[in-house]
Amino acid sequence: MAHDLRQQVRLLLDEEVGTLHRDAPDRVALVYPSPYRVGMSSLGFQAMYREINSNPSRVAERSFLPDDPEAYRTSRTPLFTFESERPVGNYPVVALSVAYEIELAGLIEVLELSGIPPLAEDRDDSHPFILAGGPLTFSNPLPLAPYVDAVLLGEADETIHPALDIIFGTSSRDEALTALRREIPSAWIPSADGEELRELGMSSRIPATGQIITPNTELRDMFLIEGERGCSRGCQYCVMRRTTNGGMRIVPAETVLALIPDHAKRVGLVGAAISDHPKITHIVNTLADQGRQVGLSSLRPDKLKEEFVTALRRAGQSTLTTAMDGASERMRKLVDRRAKLEHLVRAAEHVRKHRFKRLKLYLILGLPGETDEDIDELIEFSTGLSKIAPLSLGIAPFVSKRRTPLDNQPFAGIKLVDKRLTRLRRGVKGRVDIRSTSSRWAWIEYVLAQGGAAEGRAVLDAVHAGGKFRDWKNAFDALPERPRAKGVLPVVG
Ligand code: SF4
Repeated sequence: MAHDLRQQVRLLLDEEVGTLHRDAPDRVALVYPSPYRVGMSSLGFQAMYREINSNPSRVAERSFLPDDPEAYRTSRTPLFTFESERPVGNYPVVALSVAYEIELAGLIEVLELSGIPPLAEDRDDSHPFILAGGPLTFSNPLPLAPYVDAVLLGEADETIHPALDIIFGTSSRDEALTALRREIPSAWIPSADGEELRELGMSSRIPATGQIITPNTELRDMFLIEGERGCSRGCQYCVMRRTTNGGMRIVPAETVLALIPDHAKRVGLVGAAISDHPKITHIVNTLADQGRQVGLSSLRPDKLKEEFVTALRRAGQSTLTTAMDGASERMRKLVDRRAKLEHLVRAAEHVRKHRFKRLKLYLILGLPGETDEDIDELIEFSTGLSKIAPLSLGIAPFVSKRRTPLDNQPFAGIKLVDKRLTRLRRGVKGRVDIRSTSSRWAWIEYVLAQGGAAEGRAVLDAVHAGGKFRDWKNAFDALPERPRAKGVLPVVG
């Protein structure tokens, strides 16, 4: 069995281009708390792999939450890294990238599969140093507190090496924590800072680029590269809005194009607001001229003009995906989106004219103040749109995030979200394809997005009880109170 698990990893490695096989004295296990196909689609994770390995005295080797954790448990195989097959628990440092709230369960699992006590209070100097970072740290990392030794908040491209210098250069965990706190303003040390977060790290080192191309990810065979970082818009619910991270930082088109390796047949252009890049049409057209396919992480509807859409089609996009944000004009105004109905109608016309397979629109359901009338407006509008082009709606229940103007807004409720989804499905009578993320898991995300260390600690109970929704609910319900987490700087305006 253990042999089979190693064999599975070797098969994945065989299909990778760009894997780094190195050895160096400072060894870091770089672990993603979701499966391989998700982790390898993360530009941030790939960029960190490249960054740590760029230092001659350091090596980063990857590991992921296994697709079948039970197989590791039953065969008593400790989680191991891909590159050298060393047990993760034998590395002096385990660095984890966490993208969103529910991955906390995966973080607990990977630590336990590595034989590392998940709670920081149960560890001593014989255990690896647990360092976390990743997109979650932009909003609310407080639930990580029970499990990690330190967190690099915000962008960690520039802080990772100074942090590792300290961790490898000190002789005990306590000494490292004290020095991290003293020397890196974005290093949050839960054992010392409690729920008082520190400042968000900002980096001038853009663009991040991927290191490995593999067919076994969500973004199959794609070379990932940042075209911009941050966003200049101000959507009220979004953690990446202009006030959190200094606005949009643009990578010149020539830089983007020069960094793409010849062997990359598919290119993923990444950025919270990549379609706002002033030269995006030029970049996509140039890549299409070179015979490459292009994927973009997000498209704003007001940017979908003829020239740009033509370029996207040339570059192999078969679905046109953008966002309509809220169910109705009133909801879109509430969240300060610039998606106008005319832009969405124009997008549907582009789909028909350029023979895309379908138009896919993302929107949020359950925003504060939403009523059945807003859903009825959505039914009417989307039914009309579906007469122009095949239409899918990708729906996410609203989850209030820290560091946004809609922080502290309530969750609409599982029953209400489901009721609205049923109303929508009935209303569109099969003419529109409706997909929604689960209202139950959205509620769990909400509790963690608004919670603190206590909610984070409850996740351990949920995981140990089996990890089903009922287990999470029981664990949260058992909390004596849900104190509103303190210390996160609100961002307004
Ligand atoms: S939702 Fe998109 S456009 Fe709006 S602020 Fe966030 S990243 Fe920018």
